Amino acid sequence: MDVQERLNDVMSRIRMSETAANRAEGAVALVAVSKTFDAEAIRPVIAAGQRVFGENRVQEAQGKWPELKAETPDVELHLIGPLQSNKAADAVALFDVIETIDREKIARAVAVEMKRQDRKPRLYVQVNTGLEPQKAGIAPEETGAFVDLCRSELGLDIEGLMCIPPVDENPGPHFALLEKLAMSCGLTRLSMGMSGDFETAIAFGATSVRVGSAIFGTR
Ligand SMILES: *Cc1c(COP(=O)(O)O)cnc(C)c1O
Repeated sequence: MDVQERLNDVMSRIRMSETAANRAEGAVALVAVSKTFDAEAIRPVIAAGQRVFGENRVQEAQGKWPELKAETPDVELHLIGPLQSNKAADAVALFDVIETIDREKIARAVAVEMKRQDRKPRLYVQVNTGLEPQKAGIAPEETGAFVDLCRSELGLDIEGLMCIPPVDENPGPHFALLEKLAMSCGLTRLSMGMSGDFETAIAFGATSVRVGSAIFGTR
């Protein structure tokens, strides 16, 4: 299969999972994760009609996306990897969605840059559903208070929650937990599910799935 066939295959699996979960067609957005792939590899996916992409490193994204965005202005770029505060300005300038607001320091840095640049990327809070020490994200029990702080103290309009379940665990309970936390915060958007588990994530209410290797091949 070439990259366009793999994209079509992922899209049809998304549509089938929506139907199986009694969800509206188009309820789930595909974020095509293009990290480690260069502009040459990404162009055929854009040509096939995909418009939403995810990158996990600010610096890597800066090396290819300004050019690709100039070619196709309606692409939407998501930051899905950890953000350092010294990269907040660059991230706010380049990304349309930042999915990895994961601590107060980053929320504050992003808020300052949004004002300074008069840009409003959409924002997600990353939750460390498995409480993994090596993984970024707010602890589940602190999510409500953190979303409140973002909203009331920093004036940030949080759109949803994002998680990356532990690789060696059944992801279902992590997706269910994220959905429950979102409900309790009054949030309706859930970024969850990757190549290996996006159909499960859709069954648990994902509104966007982040799929890399199933489209671009192994990294
Ligand atoms: C790399 C990555 C993905 C995509 O992973 P695949 O298994 O290649 O689909 C999704 N989310 C995040 C946060 C990633 O870093």
